[in-house]
Amino acid sequence: MDILDFLQRLMCWLGFHDFRVLEVTFGFGEAGDVEKVECKNCGYVTTRTKRRD
Ligand SMILES: [Zn+2]
Repeated sequence: MDILDFLQRLMCWLGFHDFRVLEVTFGFGEAGDVEKVECKNCGYVTTRTKRRD
């Protein structure tokens, strides 16, 4: 097994995904922008909110 491959799987398993942004939905008012992101390693897709200060 490739050690880098193993480390990436381990990081994903621990919740540290290597995300790339699929799309960004701009929030209104107090709401932050919502990014739809996908992990480059395992394909895990989720959304995250970016706060604007
Ligand atoms: Zn991942």
